[in-house]
Amino acid sequence: MEDMLYHSVPKLELHRHAEGSVRTETYIDILRSRGLGGLLPVKLRDREAVERLISIGPDDKRGFHLGLSHFAWLRHAFADKEAIARILAEAIEDAAAEGAVYQELRLSAGPLLAKGIPGQDILAAVEEGIRLGERSSGIKAAVILGINREMDLGYAAQVLELAINGAGNGVCGIDLLSDEAYPPEQFAGIYQRALDAGVHRTVHAGEYGSAWNIQTAVRLLHAERIGHGLKLYDGLCPDLPAEIRDRGVHIECCPTSNVIFGVLEQLYAHPLPRMIGDGISVSINTDDPRVIHWGLCREYEEMHRVFQLSPQRIAALMLAAVDSIFRDDCKPYLRGCISGWLEKGKMNYENC
Ligand SMILES: [Zn+2]
Repeated sequence: MEDMLYHSVPKLELHRHAEGSVRTETYIDILRSRGLGGLLPVKLRDREAVERLISIGPDDKRGFHLGLSHFAWLRHAFADKEAIARILAEAIEDAAAEGAVYQELRLSAGPLLAKGIPGQDILAAVEEGIRLGERSSGIKAAVILGINREMDLGYAAQVLELAINGAGNGVCGIDLLSDEAYPPEQFAGIYQRALDAGVHRTVHAGEYGSAWNIQTAVRLLHAERIGHGLKLYDGLCPDLPAEIRDRGVHIECCPTSNVIFGVLEQLYAHPLPRMIGDGISVSINTDDPRVIHWGLCREYEEMHRVFQLSPQRIAALMLAAVDSIFRDDCKPYLRGCISGWLEKGKMNYENC
């Protein structure tokens, strides 16, 4: 009964990277069909070796830079318009297979521009990927274009331009991602322009960096949402949790990813229950399911096992999180969908 319940919860996923969602078969197929196999140190026909290259194995040392090496290999699959559209569509199908009803996928646009993929091809790929994924899965989805901190600011400006031009055609906002050693302050101008242009904004902050990064993202970058926010209670900004709640900023939690990438020793150390207790809007996400061999249903199960969050309680959190999604046109449908499930649950699963 519990298994069915986890699967049936209408899930929102607001934090999942397209790069971390590539199916191994798709990766091999794209590289083979484009003659890109020579870029890898292993043979494409050796599926296990390819898998080790693009995902975290049980013996790998945990840590941020280990994760980055997988992403460097994964980026080869984002070879052209057709490949990107296929990866996006399949990521939406995979989320739908786990009971997601809405998904926002992040796509790091800077590295694609840097390797010569034209901006209009990126936008065309996003539009086509979302169209195909929504059609085959029946769920709603959109793409957040990611700005890589370590890249030149010129790329950040180009990504913002793409987000403005692609709005309503599959693109729903921007994100600031990658190494938090590059402070958020330098992107204040870009985020101010995003605010002025009506582009939705989230920022990876307080994952590897401190609560200062979260505070800067909220105050200076006008972030509506924070990716991870794990360090919210590190003591550097004691008034920040109340400020986050009062501003209505949403935190996209990715608890298992935090453990696998070595930011948290144990899942129980995640501040999710404290955030909920403080009245902060949260969602529960997988971040990079293919890289960490993980899924949404298992994440929900873990939240129940470790924090006693029942499927109904998580659904209630998701209902509140609808306010923070970046596709305003989907809000009424999603509210109806989750409320309906909760109502039905009251009748059918009262004792679960
Ligand atoms: Zn992330």
